Amino acid sequence: MGHNLRMAERVIPIVDQSSKVLQPQVPAAAAHTPATGQLYDTRARPLRDLRISVTDRCNFRCGYCMPKEVFGKEYRYLSHDDLLRFEEITRLARLFMAHGVHKIRLTGGEPLLRKHLERLVEQLAGLRTTEGRVPDLTLTTNGSLLARKARALKDAGLQRVTVSLDSLDDAVFRRMNDVDFPVAEVLAGIEAAQAAGLAHIKVNMVVKRGTNDHEIPRMARHFRGTGITLRFIEYMDVGATNGWRMDQVVPSAEVIARLRAELPLVPLAPSALGETAQRWGWAGADGRHDPGLGEVGVISSVTQAFCGDCNRARLSMEGRLYLCLFATQGWDLRSLLRGSASDAQISAAIAHIWQGRSDRYSELRASLPADTGTGGRRIEMSYIGG
Ligand code: SAM
Ligand code: SF4
Ligand code: SF4
Repeated sequence: MGHNLRMAERVIPIVDQSSKVLQPQVPAAAAHTPATGQLYDTRARPLRDLRISVTDRCNFRCGYCMPKEVFGKEYRYLSHDDLLRFEEITRLARLFMAHGVHKIRLTGGEPLLRKHLERLVEQLAGLRTTEGRVPDLTLTTNGSLLARKARALKDAGLQRVTVSLDSLDDAVFRRMNDVDFPVAEVLAGIEAAQAAGLAHIKVNMVVKRGTNDHEIPRMARHFRGTGITLRFIEYMDVGATNGWRMDQVVPSAEVIARLRAELPLVPLAPSALGETAQRWGWAGADGRHDPGLGEVGVISSVTQAFCGDCNRARLSMEGRLYLCLFATQGWDLRSLLRGSASDAQISAAIAHIWQGRSDRYSELRASLPADTGTGGRRIEMSYIGG
Protein backbone atom coordinates (compact mmCIF):
# COMPACT_ATOMS: atom_id res chain seq x y z
CA MET A 1 0.00 0.00 0.00
CA GLY A 2 1.18 3.58 -0.11
CA HIS A 3 1.50 5.48 -3.29
CA ASN A 4 1.59 8.94 -4.71
CA LEU A 5 -0.64 10.12 -7.50
CA ARG A 6 1.18 11.19 -10.61
CA MET A 7 -0.73 13.39 -13.01
CA ALA A 8 0.94 14.39 -16.24
CA GLU A 9 4.37 15.53 -15.04
CA ARG A 10 3.33 16.44 -11.54
CA VAL A 11 3.89 14.22 -8.52
CA ILE A 12 1.57 14.93 -5.65
CA PRO A 13 2.94 13.93 -2.27
CA ILE A 14 0.52 11.97 -0.18
CA VAL A 15 1.06 12.73 3.47
CA ASP A 16 -0.41 10.98 6.44
CA GLN A 17 -2.46 13.40 8.55
CA SER A 18 -0.75 12.65 11.82
CA SER A 19 2.60 11.12 11.03
CA LYS A 20 3.32 13.29 7.99
CA VAL A 21 5.04 10.35 6.38
CA LEU A 22 5.42 10.65 2.64
CA GLN A 23 4.15 7.61 0.88
CA PRO A 24 5.75 5.82 -2.06
CA GLN A 25 4.49 6.58 -5.51
CA VAL A 26 2.00 5.19 -7.96
CA PRO A 27 1.96 6.14 -11.56
CA ALA A 28 -1.26 7.87 -12.57
CA ALA A 29 -3.61 5.52 -14.25
CA ALA A 30 -5.64 7.75 -16.49
CA ALA A 31 -4.51 5.91 -19.58
CA HIS A 32 -5.01 2.45 -18.15
CA THR A 33 -8.18 2.42 -16.11
CA PRO A 34 -11.74 3.09 -17.13
CA ALA A 35 -13.38 6.21 -15.67
CA THR A 36 -16.53 4.33 -14.82
CA GLY A 37 -17.60 0.84 -13.89
CA GLN A 38 -17.59 -1.21 -10.71
CA LEU A 39 -14.16 -1.35 -9.09
CA TYR A 40 -12.72 -4.33 -7.24
CA ASP A 41 -9.68 -4.39 -5.00
CA THR A 42 -6.89 -6.98 -4.86
CA ARG A 43 -9.11 -9.22 -2.70
CA ALA A 44 -12.04 -8.95 -5.15
CA ARG A 45 -13.98 -6.64 -2.82
CA PRO A 46 -16.21 -4.18 -4.69
CA LEU A 47 -16.29 -0.46 -3.91
CA ARG A 48 -19.87 0.14 -2.72
CA ASP A 49 -19.89 2.39 0.29
CA LEU A 50 -18.40 5.86 0.72
CA ARG A 51 -18.12 7.43 4.16
CA ILE A 52 -17.52 11.13 4.09
CA SER A 53 -16.24 12.90 7.17
CA VAL A 54 -17.29 16.55 6.98
CA THR A 55 -15.59 17.99 10.05
CA ASP A 56 -12.89 17.10 12.57
CA ARG A 57 -14.71 19.00 15.33
CA CYS A 58 -17.10 17.63 17.89
CA ASN A 59 -19.04 19.00 20.84
CA PHE A 60 -18.60 15.70 22.76
CA ARG A 61 -15.43 14.25 24.24
CA CYS A 62 -16.24 10.53 24.34
CA GLY A 63 -13.25 8.93 26.04
CA TYR A 64 -13.03 6.16 23.45
CA CYS A 65 -12.83 8.65 20.58
CA MET A 66 -11.77 12.21 21.52
CA PRO A 67 -10.40 12.05 25.06
CA LYS A 68 -10.12 15.48 26.66
CA GLU A 69 -6.46 15.03 27.48
CA VAL A 70 -5.69 14.92 23.76
CA PHE A 71 -8.53 16.98 22.31
CA GLY A 72 -8.25 19.85 24.78
CA LYS A 73 -8.21 23.63 24.31
CA GLU A 74 -4.80 23.57 22.65
CA TYR A 75 -5.80 21.01 20.04
CA ARG A 76 -5.51 22.50 16.56
CA TYR A 77 -8.39 21.68 14.28
CA LEU A 78 -8.32 22.17 10.55
CA SER A 79 -9.11 25.61 9.21
CA HIS A 80 -12.20 26.14 7.12
CA ASP A 81 -10.09 26.50 3.97
CA ASP A 82 -8.61 23.08 4.59
CA LEU A 83 -12.02 21.44 4.50
CA LEU A 84 -13.41 20.26 1.22
CA ARG A 85 -16.14 22.58 0.02
CA PHE A 86 -19.56 21.02 -0.59
CA GLU A 87 -19.05 21.28 -4.35
CA GLU A 88 -15.75 19.43 -4.04
CA ILE A 89 -17.31 16.69 -1.94
CA THR A 90 -20.16 16.33 -4.41
CA ARG A 91 -17.80 16.15 -7.35
CA LEU A 92 -15.81 13.37 -5.71
CA ALA A 93 -18.99 11.56 -4.65
CA ARG A 94 -20.19 11.64 -8.26
CA LEU A 95 -16.94 10.09 -9.46
CA PHE A 96 -17.08 7.44 -6.73
CA MET A 97 -20.64 6.62 -7.69
CA ALA A 98 -19.63 6.14 -11.29
CA HIS A 99 -17.25 3.50 -9.89
CA GLY A 100 -19.97 1.57 -8.07
CA VAL A 101 -20.71 3.43 -4.84
CA HIS A 102 -24.38 3.04 -3.84
CA LYS A 103 -24.31 4.19 -0.28
CA ILE A 104 -23.03 7.44 1.19
CA ARG A 105 -22.73 8.05 4.92
CA LEU A 106 -21.88 11.49 6.29
CA THR A 107 -19.91 11.45 9.49
CA GLY A 108 -17.21 13.32 11.41
CA GLY A 109 -16.36 14.53 14.10
CA GLU A 110 -19.91 15.61 14.61
CA PRO A 111 -21.34 16.14 11.12
CA LEU A 112 -24.19 18.36 12.31
CA LEU A 113 -21.63 20.92 13.44
CA ARG A 114 -20.80 21.58 9.79
CA LYS A 115 -22.78 24.67 8.82
CA HIS A 116 -25.58 24.23 6.28
CA LEU A 117 -25.02 20.49 6.05
CA GLU A 118 -28.46 20.17 4.49
CA ARG A 119 -27.07 21.92 1.40
CA LEU A 120 -24.54 19.13 0.99
CA VAL A 121 -27.27 16.54 1.53
CA GLU A 122 -29.30 18.20 -1.19
CA GLN A 123 -26.39 18.09 -3.63
CA LEU A 124 -25.62 14.44 -2.86
CA ALA A 125 -29.28 13.47 -3.15
CA GLY A 126 -29.17 14.80 -6.71
CA LEU A 127 -26.56 12.20 -7.74
CA ARG A 128 -27.44 8.85 -9.30
CA THR A 129 -25.94 5.36 -9.07
CA THR A 130 -24.80 3.54 -12.19
CA GLU A 131 -28.31 2.04 -12.28
CA GLY A 132 -29.86 5.48 -12.19
CA ARG A 133 -31.04 5.27 -8.59
CA VAL A 134 -30.67 7.86 -5.85
CA PRO A 135 -27.83 6.99 -3.48
CA ASP A 136 -28.67 5.43 -0.15
CA LEU A 137 -27.92 8.58 1.84
CA THR A 138 -27.44 8.47 5.58
CA LEU A 139 -25.68 10.18 8.47
CA THR A 140 -24.10 9.19 11.78
CA THR A 141 -24.54 11.72 14.57
CA ASN A 142 -24.28 12.04 18.32
CA GLY A 143 -27.83 13.38 18.16
CA SER A 144 -27.16 16.54 20.13
CA LEU A 145 -28.32 18.84 17.32
CA LEU A 146 -30.76 16.46 15.70
CA ALA A 147 -33.92 17.90 17.26
CA ARG A 148 -33.09 21.19 15.52
CA LYS A 149 -31.92 19.76 12.22
CA ALA A 150 -33.87 16.58 11.47
CA ARG A 151 -36.61 18.25 9.44
CA ALA A 152 -34.25 20.28 7.22
CA LEU A 153 -32.08 17.21 6.60
CA LYS A 154 -35.07 15.10 5.65
CA ASP A 155 -36.41 17.82 3.36
CA ALA A 156 -32.99 18.02 1.70
CA GLY A 157 -33.11 14.32 0.83
CA LEU A 158 -31.54 12.49 3.77
CA GLN A 159 -33.18 9.08 4.01
CA ARG A 160 -31.86 7.54 7.20
CA VAL A 161 -29.94 8.37 10.31
CA THR A 162 -27.81 6.53 12.86
CA VAL A 163 -27.62 8.04 16.32
CA SER A 164 -24.84 7.13 18.74
CA LEU A 165 -26.13 6.62 22.25
CA ASP A 166 -24.15 4.75 24.88
CA SER A 167 -26.50 4.84 27.85
CA LEU A 168 -29.99 5.79 28.97
CA ASP A 169 -28.74 6.58 32.43
CA ASP A 170 -28.23 10.33 32.47
CA ALA A 171 -25.25 10.21 34.82
CA VAL A 172 -23.48 7.51 32.80
CA PHE A 173 -24.26 9.31 29.55
CA ARG A 174 -22.94 12.64 30.81
CA ARG A 175 -19.76 10.93 31.99
CA MET A 176 -19.25 9.14 28.70
CA ASN A 177 -19.71 12.22 26.52
CA ASP A 178 -17.55 14.06 29.08
CA VAL A 179 -19.18 17.43 28.40
CA ASP A 180 -22.11 16.86 30.74
CA PHE A 181 -24.59 16.61 27.87
CA PRO A 182 -28.00 15.32 29.00
CA VAL A 183 -29.37 12.11 27.51
CA ALA A 184 -32.87 13.62 27.25
CA GLU A 185 -31.74 15.91 24.44
CA VAL A 186 -30.42 13.01 22.39
CA LEU A 187 -33.66 11.11 22.95
CA ALA A 188 -35.53 14.23 21.79
CA GLY A 189 -33.33 14.22 18.68
CA ILE A 190 -34.26 10.62 17.95
CA GLU A 191 -37.95 11.48 18.33
CA ALA A 192 -37.53 14.45 16.01
CA ALA A 193 -35.88 12.19 13.42
CA GLN A 194 -38.84 9.80 13.63
CA ALA A 195 -41.32 12.66 13.42
CA ALA A 196 -39.51 14.06 10.37
CA GLY A 197 -39.99 10.73 8.62
CA LEU A 198 -36.39 9.54 8.57
CA ALA A 199 -36.62 5.79 8.02
CA HIS A 200 -34.73 2.82 9.48
CA ILE A 201 -33.29 4.76 12.39
CA LYS A 202 -30.43 2.97 14.07
CA VAL A 203 -28.91 3.57 17.47
CA ASN A 204 -25.26 2.64 18.00
CA MET A 205 -24.05 1.79 21.48
CA VAL A 206 -20.32 1.34 22.01
CA VAL A 207 -20.04 -1.12 24.88
CA LYS A 208 -17.16 -0.64 27.28
CA ARG A 209 -16.76 -3.10 30.10
CA GLY A 210 -17.17 -1.54 33.52
CA THR A 211 -18.47 1.72 32.01
CA ASN A 212 -21.82 1.03 30.36
CA ASP A 213 -22.14 -2.74 29.88
CA HIS A 214 -24.70 -2.87 32.69
CA GLU A 215 -26.94 -0.81 30.40
CA ILE A 216 -27.17 -3.50 27.71
CA PRO A 217 -30.54 -4.99 28.77
CA ARG A 218 -32.10 -1.62 29.54
CA MET A 219 -31.12 -0.22 26.14
CA ALA A 220 -32.48 -3.34 24.45
CA ARG A 221 -35.83 -3.12 26.23
CA HIS A 222 -36.10 0.60 25.55
CA PHE A 223 -35.79 0.25 21.77
CA ARG A 224 -37.56 -3.11 21.39
CA GLY A 225 -40.78 -2.66 19.43
CA THR A 226 -40.07 0.98 18.50
CA GLY A 227 -38.98 0.39 14.92
CA ILE A 228 -35.48 1.57 15.87
CA THR A 229 -32.65 -0.94 15.54
CA LEU A 230 -30.18 -0.91 18.38
CA ARG A 231 -26.66 -2.06 17.54
CA PHE A 232 -24.01 -2.98 20.06
CA ILE A 233 -20.52 -2.10 18.92
CA GLU A 234 -17.38 -3.66 20.30
CA TYR A 235 -15.04 -1.03 21.66
CA MET A 236 -12.32 -0.80 19.01
CA ASP A 237 -8.63 -0.04 19.04
CA VAL A 238 -9.02 2.77 16.51
CA GLY A 239 -6.59 5.67 16.52
CA ALA A 240 -3.79 6.05 19.00
CA THR A 241 -5.28 8.17 21.75
CA ASN A 242 -8.00 6.24 23.55
CA GLY A 243 -5.79 3.91 25.59
CA TRP A 244 -7.71 0.87 24.35
CA ARG A 245 -7.40 -2.36 26.27
CA MET A 246 -8.75 -5.74 25.27
CA ASP A 247 -10.19 -6.34 28.73
CA GLN A 248 -12.55 -3.38 28.18
CA VAL A 249 -14.06 -5.02 25.11
CA VAL A 250 -17.32 -6.88 25.65
CA PRO A 251 -17.41 -9.52 22.91
CA SER A 252 -20.63 -9.54 20.89
CA ALA A 253 -21.18 -13.18 21.80
CA GLU A 254 -21.37 -12.10 25.43
CA VAL A 255 -23.81 -9.28 24.60
CA ILE A 256 -26.11 -11.74 22.84
CA ALA A 257 -25.83 -14.27 25.67
CA ARG A 258 -26.73 -11.60 28.23
CA LEU A 259 -29.76 -10.54 26.18
CA ARG A 260 -30.92 -14.08 25.56
CA ALA A 261 -30.83 -14.76 29.28
CA GLU A 262 -33.69 -12.26 29.60
CA LEU A 263 -35.56 -12.18 26.29
CA PRO A 264 -35.88 -14.55 23.31
CA LEU A 265 -33.73 -13.68 20.31
CA VAL A 266 -33.27 -15.56 17.04
CA PRO A 267 -30.49 -15.11 14.45
CA LEU A 268 -31.47 -13.38 11.20
CA ALA A 269 -29.84 -13.55 7.78
CA PRO A 270 -27.72 -10.58 6.67
CA SER A 271 -29.77 -8.09 4.65
CA ALA A 272 -26.92 -6.95 2.42
CA LEU A 273 -23.48 -8.07 1.36
CA GLY A 274 -20.81 -6.22 3.30
CA GLU A 275 -23.18 -5.51 6.18
CA THR A 276 -21.12 -4.98 9.28
CA ALA A 277 -23.76 -5.98 11.84
CA GLN A 278 -24.89 -9.49 12.63
CA ARG A 279 -28.66 -9.33 13.01
CA TRP A 280 -30.77 -10.86 15.75
CA GLY A 281 -34.57 -10.68 15.83
CA TRP A 282 -36.78 -10.44 18.88
CA ALA A 283 -38.92 -13.54 19.01
CA GLY A 284 -42.62 -13.65 19.82
CA ALA A 285 -44.47 -16.26 21.89
CA ASP A 286 -44.12 -18.82 19.05
CA GLY A 287 -40.32 -18.57 19.22
CA ARG A 288 -40.12 -16.99 15.75
CA HIS A 289 -38.92 -13.54 14.83
CA ASP A 290 -41.67 -11.00 15.40
CA PRO A 291 -41.07 -8.13 12.96
CA GLY A 292 -43.22 -5.90 15.17
CA LEU A 293 -40.66 -6.24 17.94
CA GLY A 294 -37.82 -5.53 15.55
CA GLU A 295 -34.21 -6.54 15.83
CA VAL A 296 -30.84 -5.77 17.34
CA GLY A 297 -27.42 -5.92 15.74
CA VAL A 298 -23.94 -6.63 16.97
CA ILE A 299 -20.83 -5.27 15.33
CA SER A 300 -17.93 -7.51 16.23
CA SER A 301 -15.05 -5.56 14.78
CA VAL A 302 -12.65 -6.95 17.35
CA THR A 303 -13.71 -10.54 17.97
CA GLN A 304 -14.89 -11.43 14.49
CA ALA A 305 -13.21 -9.64 11.63
CA PHE A 306 -15.36 -8.85 8.63
CA CYS A 307 -12.63 -7.58 6.32
CA GLY A 308 -13.51 -10.21 3.72
CA ASP A 309 -16.62 -8.21 2.73
CA CYS A 310 -15.35 -4.72 3.49
CA ASN A 311 -16.48 -2.52 0.63
CA ARG A 312 -16.01 0.88 2.26
CA ALA A 313 -13.88 3.82 1.22
CA ARG A 314 -13.45 6.75 3.57
CA LEU A 315 -12.96 10.36 2.60
CA SER A 316 -11.67 12.76 5.23
CA MET A 317 -12.89 16.35 5.61
CA GLU A 318 -9.70 17.60 3.95
CA GLY A 319 -10.05 15.25 1.03
CA ARG A 320 -7.83 12.32 1.89
CA LEU A 321 -8.95 8.91 0.85
CA TYR A 322 -8.48 6.05 3.33
CA LEU A 323 -9.10 2.41 2.56
CA CYS A 324 -9.40 1.12 6.11
CA LEU A 325 -10.47 2.42 9.50
CA PHE A 326 -7.04 1.46 10.77
CA ALA A 327 -5.11 3.03 7.95
CA THR A 328 -1.89 4.88 8.63
CA GLN A 329 -1.88 6.70 5.32
CA GLY A 330 -4.29 8.40 2.99
CA TRP A 331 -4.33 9.67 -0.56
CA ASP A 332 -4.57 13.40 -1.05
CA LEU A 333 -7.46 13.80 -3.49
CA ARG A 334 -7.80 17.49 -2.59
CA SER A 335 -4.58 18.22 -4.41
CA LEU A 336 -6.16 16.79 -7.51
CA LEU A 337 -9.39 18.75 -7.02
CA ARG A 338 -7.59 22.02 -6.41
CA GLY A 339 -4.84 21.30 -8.91
CA SER A 340 -7.31 21.45 -11.79
CA ALA A 341 -7.31 17.74 -12.56
CA SER A 342 -10.00 16.61 -14.94
CA ASP A 343 -12.81 14.29 -13.87
CA ALA A 344 -11.18 11.55 -15.93
CA GLN A 345 -7.87 11.97 -14.12
CA ILE A 346 -9.44 11.94 -10.66
CA SER A 347 -11.60 9.01 -11.63
CA ALA A 348 -8.58 7.09 -12.84
CA ALA A 349 -6.71 7.90 -9.65
CA ILE A 350 -9.60 6.57 -7.55
CA ALA A 351 -9.68 3.42 -9.67
CA HIS A 352 -5.98 2.89 -9.31
CA ILE A 353 -6.07 3.35 -5.55
CA TRP A 354 -9.02 0.99 -5.01
CA GLN A 355 -7.57 -1.60 -7.34
CA GLY A 356 -4.39 -1.62 -5.28
CA ARG A 357 -6.24 -2.06 -1.96
CA SER A 358 -5.32 -5.02 0.21
CA ASP A 359 -6.21 -3.72 3.71
CA ARG A 360 -7.60 -6.19 6.25
CA TYR A 361 -6.45 -4.90 9.57
CA SER A 362 -9.01 -6.68 11.76
CA GLU A 363 -8.06 -10.03 10.30
CA LEU A 364 -4.43 -9.33 11.05
CA ARG A 365 -4.90 -7.56 14.40
CA ALA A 366 -3.64 -10.37 16.57
CA SER A 367 -0.42 -10.74 14.65
CA LEU A 368 0.46 -7.03 14.48
CA PRO A 369 2.59 -5.12 16.98
CA ALA A 370 0.45 -3.19 19.50
CA ASP A 371 -0.48 0.42 18.66
CA THR A 372 1.17 0.49 15.28
CA GLY A 373 -1.42 -1.29 13.19
CA THR A 374 -0.15 -1.49 9.69
CA GLY A 375 3.09 0.27 10.57
CA GLY A 376 2.73 3.94 11.50
CA ARG A 377 0.46 6.24 13.46
CA ARG A 378 -3.17 5.41 12.86
CA ILE A 379 -5.84 7.90 11.92
CA GLU A 380 -8.33 8.80 14.63
CA MET A 381 -11.99 7.82 14.62
CA SER A 382 -12.93 11.49 15.02
CA TYR A 383 -10.98 12.18 11.82
CA ILE A 384 -12.40 9.44 9.65
CA GLY A 385 -15.71 8.82 11.34
CA GLY A 386 -16.24 5.10 11.67
N1 SAM B 1 -19.97 12.12 16.13
C1 SAM B 1 -20.77 11.19 15.44
C2 SAM B 1 -21.26 10.10 16.35
O1 SAM B 1 -20.71 9.94 17.43
O2 SAM B 1 -22.19 9.40 15.95
C3 SAM B 1 -20.13 10.60 14.20
C4 SAM B 1 -18.67 10.25 14.28
S1 SAM B 1 -18.28 8.94 15.43
C5 SAM B 1 -16.53 8.87 15.25
C6 SAM B 1 -18.89 7.52 14.55
C7 SAM B 1 -19.13 6.29 15.38
O3 SAM B 1 -17.89 5.79 15.83
C8 SAM B 1 -19.97 6.51 16.62
O4 SAM B 1 -21.07 5.61 16.60
C9 SAM B 1 -19.04 6.18 17.74
O5 SAM B 1 -19.70 5.63 18.83
C10 SAM B 1 -18.09 5.21 17.09
N2 SAM B 1 -16.80 5.09 17.76
C11 SAM B 1 -15.92 6.07 18.06
N3 SAM B 1 -14.82 5.56 18.67
C12 SAM B 1 -15.02 4.24 18.76
C13 SAM B 1 -14.27 3.15 19.30
N4 SAM B 1 -13.08 3.35 19.87
N5 SAM B 1 -14.77 1.90 19.20
C14 SAM B 1 -15.97 1.68 18.61
N6 SAM B 1 -16.72 2.66 18.08
C15 SAM B 1 -16.26 3.92 18.17
FE1 SF4 C 1 -17.67 13.07 19.00
FE2 SF4 C 1 -18.77 10.98 17.85
FE3 SF4 C 1 -16.25 10.86 18.69
FE4 SF4 C 1 -18.18 10.96 20.50
S1 SF4 C 1 -17.84 9.33 19.00
S2 SF4 C 1 -16.32 12.21 20.49
S3 SF4 C 1 -19.68 12.22 19.50
S4 SF4 C 1 -17.01 12.14 17.07
FE1 SF4 D 1 -12.59 -2.87 6.55
FE2 SF4 D 1 -10.24 -2.25 7.64
FE3 SF4 D 1 -12.35 -2.75 9.20
FE4 SF4 D 1 -11.17 -4.73 7.86
S1 SF4 D 1 -10.26 -3.51 9.49
S2 SF4 D 1 -13.38 -4.35 8.03
S3 SF4 D 1 -10.58 -3.66 5.97
S4 SF4 D 1 -12.12 -1.04 7.75
